[in-house]
Amino acid sequence: MGAALRDESGKLSLTTKIMLGMGGGLVLGVILNLMQIEFVNTHVVGGFFGMVGRMFVNALQMLVVPLVFFSLICGVAGIGDIRILGRVGGKSFGLYLATTATAIAVAILIALLVGPGQGFVMDGVDTTGVTGKEAPSVWDTFAAIVPRNPVAAFSGGEMLQIIFYTIILGVAALMLGERSKPFVEACEFMNELMMKVVQIVMAFAPIGVFCLITKTFTEQGIGLFLPVMTYVLVLVGALFLHLFVTLMIFLKVFSGLDPFVFMKKIRPAQIFAFSTASSNATIPVTLRCVTERMGVSNAVGSFTVPFGATINMDGTAIMQGVATVFLANVYGIDLGIGGYVTVIAMAVLASIGTAGVPGVGLVMLTMVLNQVGLPIEGIALILGVDRLMDMIRTAVNITGDAVVTTIVARTEGQMDMDTFADPTAGELIGDNLGIDEKAEGVLAGAAHARPAE
Ligand code: ASP
Repeated sequence: MGAALRDESGKLSLTTKIMLGMGGGLVLGVILNLMQIEFVNTHVVGGFFGMVGRMFVNALQMLVVPLVFFSLICGVAGIGDIRILGRVGGKSFGLYLATTATAIAVAILIALLVGPGQGFVMDGVDTTGVTGKEAPSVWDTFAAIVPRNPVAAFSGGEMLQIIFYTIILGVAALMLGERSKPFVEACEFMNELMMKVVQIVMAFAPIGVFCLITKTFTEQGIGLFLPVMTYVLVLVGALFLHLFVTLMIFLKVFSGLDPFVFMKKIRPAQIFAFSTASSNATIPVTLRCVTERMGVSNAVGSFTVPFGATINMDGTAIMQGVATVFLANVYGIDLGIGGYVTVIAMAVLASIGTAGVPGVGLVMLTMVLNQVGLPIEGIALILGVDRLMDMIRTAVNITGDAVVTTIVARTEGQMDMDTFADPTAGELIGDNLGIDEKAEGVLAGAAHARPAE
């Protein structure tokens, strides 16, 4: 950390401030949970902190659709060749499936070895209000990728549909060649503008993260974890194993990149994912980390990051695997090899269909349980601890996206290794939004942009 902690003028780096916000929120939340002062917990934390936290998450989400649209158009135009685009798409899709399948297979193995939930007593668990979700067929999942109405897709934030539509638009622009130059240039400018908005929102991140984390820990406390401690421990163990071992092996083997440098550079995105429990809301930060901090070209990152945030959920799949084994043990049901293979297939499919927003993984778990005939009321057992588990698994989800992104970029020759090697690349310092150094350039650019007359 040392070097990136402060810049030359002695200001704290934004990442450090965000981490301080997170640590402060954690400590304050746990203390407030233990003290249980009704007024503070309800009105100050639940009310005011909740409002600030929600504003921050809303602000992040407000960036997602325009950012994905403009940066993806630039990405497609930047790749410039439809065949390469197809290769990048195929490669990332294959890697996303492979990492998710590995994640859940390993998680099920660990859970079977440790056996969480054996001898669990079901007393006092309220299972009312837990309802299941039927599995959509593979065909329905794929058919839904093509939007009937692109405007509805954009307004509803349907990421797969937006990506599909934008790629088609980008390809069409490529086919028009010279004629689409003004359109591509306009998108490039809009992309730059959106990145600036990201920077403005990020400046408020330390406060937003502090409020979100304080609220979560004030409400959750640690008492909730005791009854399902074995589930929590096995799940967190499996998530960490995937994060620090499996994904890093994938990274090293397929891209040759240094896992330590990678981990350091992806940290801001992990903190955002942890605080918001939403891969979608984290897209702007993940995108910044892989492009500006690691040197992935915008052409690749703008495609693989939103794509991954939508279809790649390694952490969610791990949770579903561990939860299935836990509940099978609680109910004393033996699923057998066939059952677990079904769970793997279902979880990979669910991963594609799960939106990157908080809590969806648990809803999709009902689908997996339905498929193998486990009682869905069992979800009530793990409901209480799910928010914290969601935060951790979302951080794993976006790390998986970034690993695949760097592998694709590296193997396609779309990565600037000098940026990757530079420890300060893309580092935001203090609250200075880069206005001083850049303002002149922007004004000069604006002057150029004005019509000559
Ligand atoms: N919150 C997760 C994500 O956004 C999805 C989930 O597992 O609920 O990636």
